[in-house]
Formats: sequence, structure tokens, C-alpha cells
Amino acid sequence: MNKISLIVPCYNEEANIKPFYNAIMEIYTGGGGINDADLELMFVNDGSKDNTLQKIRALHEKDSRVKCVSFSRNFGKEAALFAGIRNVTGDCTVLLDADLQHPPFVLVEMYKKWKEGYEVVEGVKSNRGKEGLFHKLFTKVFYGMISKAVGMDMKNSSDYKLLDKKVVAELAKLKERNTFFRALSFWVGFKKTTVYYEVAERANGTSKWSTKSLIKYAINNVICFSYAPLHIVTAVGCVFTIIGIGVAVDALISFFTGKAASGFPTLVCITLIGFGGVMVCLGIIGVYIAQIYDEVKGRPQYIIGEKIE
Ligand code: UDP
Ligand code: MG
Repeated sequence: MNKISLIVPCYNEEANIKPFYNAIMEIYTGGGGINDADLELMFVNDGSKDNTLQKIRALHEKDSRVKCVSFSRNFGKEAALFAGIRNVTGDCTVLLDADLQHPPFVLVEMYKKWKEGYEVVEGVKSNRGKEGLFHKLFTKVFYGMISKAVGMDMKNSSDYKLLDKKVVAELAKLKERNTFFRALSFWVGFKKTTVYYEVAERANGTSKWSTKSLIKYAINNVICFSYAPLHIVTAVGCVFTIIGIGVAVDALISFFTGKAASGFPTLVCITLIGFGGVMVCLGIIGVYIAQIYDEVKGRPQYIIGEKIE
């Protein structure tokens, strides 16, 4: 008999644990096409400060298929996903949010694709939910860069995915701690297909992402997957050098034709732009070095405080 594992990252989701469980059970017992398999519900409690863990424990007491890995503090969703990946035992694994924004019935279709032989089933958003103009623009640039780095169209991709146990095993082996799950699941290869779904409204509570944390997340992921910023820096440096040579030639011509050298303001502009450019370049290189430093220290991506099995 096949076994489906679900990985559910939870950070302050006390109001969603029970509704989530009920939604899954409704699909499972409703003859919806996954009841030929065993289930394993792996909640990952990402250092919630509310009663999330108690709610999960209460479910576990009634239903032993409910399991939990609980972090010692909040380590972020990426860490939660990878802790799940390293602890599930299913033949296939579905990763989905606790807030029911990833409609659970879609996993039936994912499971069907898996039985057809696909090893990675990507959930792709057919809409992006409600987002502001800035957010839209930002995600466009961000996914443009990542798509190029990974060599695949990642626009509208999400963390809602089904992975075969072979893929889970490969991802579990990764040693890097600065992970970007969405892109890594492309990176590993294997036989892929996609299913489309509409992002639902959050069931209860609020999103855990602030604009600041989103920007940090985006920078981290670009650094993690792309060298484009370093190439851009090099290109900008070349442009500055060429301009500098042009200005020098101009100054020499002026000197030999006996004209006065061009004005002081030009000099100030060039100096400021030049310095600005160098500073930005150093900053970008610094971010990469910081990331290297982080990886070299080799601290674990998360610390497990408790396991409920
Ligand atoms: N999450 C987590 N750790 C965090 C932030 C979020 O495990 O530090 C979980 C959260 O409980 C939810 C999922 O990741 O199940 C998606 O988070 P959220 O709904 O806040 O993000 P959004 O849907 O707004 O992108
Ligand atoms: Mg959400």
C-alpha cells in the first residue's frame, strides 16, 4: 500500500490546525481518490508562540497518523520544509501551507499524476491572489532572475508540491543551510509535471510575511541561486572604466589643442558616481561573502526541540 506524507509548516497557526486536519480527512474519507493510500500528517511547528503545538498534540492523541517536529524557536518556513523532508516516510510527499491557501483537494490530482509516474508535481498558481502593484513588480523582477538561474520558468510557482520519495531523499541530503525550496525542487531534476490551482484566501490569522521579511527572503534566494548580481557589478564597472577612458581622452585632446580642461563640476560628478558605483559593488560582493561565512560556520538550519511520533 502506498503512503502519502503531508508536510505542513506551522507558525502561530492554532486557529488553522483543526480546520486543516478536517479538510484533509474530508478528502481522504470522501472517496476522493487518495484513500487507496496510507496517510502521514507531518506538522512542523516552527517555534509558534501560541497553542499550535498543543493543538497538534491533541490531534495526535486521537489519530496516530498525526506527527510533529517541533523547533526550539522560529527558524523560518524554509527550515520547516526541510525538517519535514528529513522526517517523512511516505512513498510520496506533499508540502502545503496550514492556512488552507493551498487548496487541499488539489493533492488528489497531484497524487493521480504521481501514480502516472511523475516524480515532481508542481503546484502552479493560476492567480496570484491579492497583491499590490509594488509587490507585483517586485515578484516579476525576482522570478525573472531566479528563472534564468534555474533555467526554468518559475513565475507563479509555489511551495505547493508533490515529491516522490526519491526526490525527498535527494533533497534531504543537501548540506546547504540557505535553501530555497521552490527552486531546489526544479534543480534536482526528475520527471516533472504541473497542476494549476487558485490561491485561496487565508482561512484564519494573518500572513507571517512583512515587506521587510519578503525583501530579505528575495535577496537571500537570489544570492542562493544566481550570480547575476556579480555579473551586473562587473558590467557596471566596465561601463565606468570606458567612460573614464573617454573623459581622459577628452582631457588630453583639450590639453594639446590648448583649450582649458572641462569644468570642476564634471570632476565632482564623476568622482561621486565612481565612488557610489564602487560602494554598491562592494556591498553586493559583501552579501555573497556573508552568505559564504554563514555556510562555512555550518550551523544547523534548525534545532528540533521535540518530536511527536
Ligand atoms: N510559516 C512557517 N514559519 C514562518 C512563517 C510561516 O512555518 O516563519 C508557515 C505558515 O504557518 C504557513 C506557511 O508557512 O503555513 C505560509 O505562511 P504565510 O501564510 O504566512 O505566508 P503567505 O501565504 O502569506 O505567503
Ligand atoms: Mg498563507
